[in-house]
Amino acid sequence: VGKQLYLGMDFGTSGARYALIDKEGEIYAEGKREYPLYMSEETIDWVKSWKTTLFTLMEDIPVGLRPAIASISIDGTSGTTIIVDSTTGEPLCRPFLYNESCPEALPIVKAIAPAKHTVCSGSSTLCKVVSWWRSSIDSSKTSATLLHQADWLLWLLHGKLGLSDYNNALKVGYDPEVESYPPWLLSQPYSCVLPVVLPPGTTIGTMKESIRSQFGFPKDCVICTGTTDSIAAFLAARANQPGKAVTSLGSTLAIKLLSTRRVEDSRFGVYSHRLDDKWLVGGASNTGGAVLRQIFTDEQLKKLSEKINSAEASPLDYYPLQDIGERFPVADPEMKPRLHPRPASDVEYLHGILESIARIEAKGYSLLKELGATPVEEVFTAGGGSKNEKWIQIRERVLGFPVRKALQTEAAYGAALLAMKGAAAER
Ligand code: ADP
Repeated sequence: VGKQLYLGMDFGTSGARYALIDKEGEIYAEGKREYPLYMSEETIDWVKSWKTTLFTLMEDIPVGLRPAIASISIDGTSGTTIIVDSTTGEPLCRPFLYNESCPEALPIVKAIAPAKHTVCSGSSTLCKVVSWWRSSIDSSKTSATLLHQADWLLWLLHGKLGLSDYNNALKVGYDPEVESYPPWLLSQPYSCVLPVVLPPGTTIGTMKESIRSQFGFPKDCVICTGTTDSIAAFLAARANQPGKAVTSLGSTLAIKLLSTRRVEDSRFGVYSHRLDDKWLVGGASNTGGAVLRQIFTDEQLKKLSEKINSAEASPLDYYPLQDIGERFPVADPEMKPRLHPRPASDVEYLHGILESIARIEAKGYSLLKELGATPVEEVFTAGGGSKNEKWIQIRERVLGFPVRKALQTEAAYGAALLAMKGAAAER
């Protein structure tokens, strides 16, 4: 190719993807694999499945492009935790998945962590560590290391154990602002399993020689620390100035805003991830496309949307929810879905729903501003709802700032950008 290329891999909830890009961000190759399901003792052997998928994806990369790959990074599902032997790297138990909860560990974590800290949730990485610690024998405790999914997959490539990044490590209690674990965590007996934490996109080292020569990667190909899947998807949109935001209109509505200030409010589930010298502030509402799908098919959504007059405000005021309860931008576990009155015209009905979701999005961004985040200037959109032009026009009117469809939304693309960052720092 003559050019340096950067490889990003995304390990999401249902499968994995890769993207290979150049310095200008142009995609040279991309691909996708579903996780093969291996069974072991009547449960899915996820670790084997992820490892197989990693090497399958690498085989999928065109042979002719591999010698041009300067660096590699990987993102994984946030909160997916693997406890490994600190000398061999072999998992000491099955992994704890991102959405798995360890309620028995929650009271223990709440007793040591500051009130409302990110770790005070049954599915936090820290609860998973505590749960493992309580159930394991002493000999394995002394030789154990905690890795997140992305850390472990990267380790397979570089071979240095015990490294993570500050995005993945947030849920175990790492404080990215002061770049260390807090004293209340370091004083715990299980602090010996905590990994060393680096900024995402930091070069760790070169690829293991055996893998490098097997796949035909160049000698100086470096492996860089990763991030979580949702942060990688944000990075893909290249909303890299404070005030730029990404709204994800998938089954639910999630907003992420780049801010110069860190803001947190556990009442609304708002917290910030560090991205170099800025903060990525996020909030997630339970409204979103899932409700649309209960009422209309995607084909109907397309046809009906075309007939909406987006310049006109809909007088209908709904709160579309799939179930009872909302967290952001209103914290109300009892909130009921509101989708009535339903007008005779489906076009009007859909207009009302899209407009109502846009009002919730606007309220989300103004809440982040009230909490102290950098005010929004421009919004990029990702997810299934981003293809709806009329909705974009409605949102521009309701939000009062430019709304654009993100050019890139794949997390693998964001991971490739992290790899590019790592390679640039090398030179
Ligand atoms: P997920 O969060 O499940 O990954 P996707 O990003 O794939 O979701 O988006 C799927 C959602 O997009 C569906 O809930 C669907 O209602 C919504 N959607 C699909 N087509 C349209 C459209 N034309 N206008 C608005 N929403 C749409």
